[in-house]
Amino acid sequence: MRYLPDADPEVNEAINRELQRQRNSLELIASENFASPAVLEAAGTVLTNKYAEGYPNHRYYGGCRHVDAVEETARNRACSLFGAEHANVQPHSGAQANTAAYYAVLDPGDTVLGMDLSHGGHLTHGSPVNISGRLFRFIPYGVHRETETIDYSQVEELAVREKPRLIVTGATAYPRRIDFAAFARIAARVGALLMVDMAHIAGLVATGLHDSPIPHAQIVTSTTHKTLRGPRGGLILCRLNLAKAVDKAVFPGVQGGPLMHIIAAKAVAFGEALTPAFRLYQEQVLKNSRILAESLQAEGFRLVSGGTDNHLILVDLAPRGLSGQAAETALEEIGITVNKNSIPFDSQKPTVTSGIRLGTPAVTTRGMREDEMRQIARIITAALTGGKQELCRRRVADLCRAFPLYQDPSASAAM
Ligand code: PLP
Repeated sequence: MRYLPDADPEVNEAINRELQRQRNSLELIASENFASPAVLEAAGTVLTNKYAEGYPNHRYYGGCRHVDAVEETARNRACSLFGAEHANVQPHSGAQANTAAYYAVLDPGDTVLGMDLSHGGHLTHGSPVNISGRLFRFIPYGVHRETETIDYSQVEELAVREKPRLIVTGATAYPRRIDFAAFARIAARVGALLMVDMAHIAGLVATGLHDSPIPHAQIVTSTTHKTLRGPRGGLILCRLNLAKAVDKAVFPGVQGGPLMHIIAAKAVAFGEALTPAFRLYQEQVLKNSRILAESLQAEGFRLVSGGTDNHLILVDLAPRGLSGQAAETALEEIGITVNKNSIPFDSQKPTVTSGIRLGTPAVTTRGMREDEMRQIARIITAALTGGKQELCRRRVADLCRAFPLYQDPSASAAM
């Protein structure tokens, strides 16, 4: 930082402390990642100064030729990355992308099927506290009590009975593959549109390590900052026949001027995601997740659905007599960041929960591999079963030191 320390010591100090926190703790929040220095640079540019309401070559402001080029690059790269016909890269966040997607294809009061929040769905999939639940008639579906995987026969029964205009799938805390083809068959049977919110798994989809929703869904939304490892933001992909409706729904439907600096950072991140190195990174995310899951199981933890197919793991702590809230606090004290998370059919309140959600995207970006996952499982076990806090803290610090973050320029270049 060249200017901030003098211009605003208070904010500069808080940013520096956050940098130290990221460097010195193990980030296991499944929805977080570390954007590359190039992505951070693009996000911190003069493009933040530019108003560009509208779309490339059709703006409501002058002086847009350079930001037009940036947005074109971002849209083209998003389309090649996912094999989509049309991309809108303007949503400020995943929630904005979902709201715009609904606005593009629904009328207020329409019936929609969405995954229950308490079974792994997102707030924007029809929760009564979100605008989606206020504007539309969402009917929740969930996972099977025994297998803890999506109950496709329940989805079909509900679809036949409720005749929804739209079925939404995608999740925020679901450790298994989602069968998009099955959802598409159900949607086709009842004449509904299919929308997939691939926010969590976008990086896996981009590299072919999770089935793509693109051939099956009319509309696909995402965030750009989770497994995809871009800047904080949203994305909508759709077929050409919905392109106009989607673009109108984003602007002027739910947003004003786009964040052109963030769109530049999205373009850079999509460029990175198109490289072979990104595919190797995603493969390692999956290997790390599987090894972390197996190691925790070997330590006696029960995992929701018995394991993982993706980058995240849901641990049921009830059999160990612990709440998610207590575990989150105990782990934070030794330098491991996780989030408490409801598990399906949870008996605890959402503010307490019986589970924690763990993910490997961020630690994998730091360069950690299978052996480190085994160590992390042992540290977590020690911290949650009365092991010495000081020792756990030291083992976390050693791992962080061995895998530096935003420090060594050559290591950063490899991110
Ligand atoms: N959709 C899913 C599946 C998510 O997991 C999330 C965030 O966790 C979102 C949408 C919302 O994204 P944002 O926080 O960028 O609004």
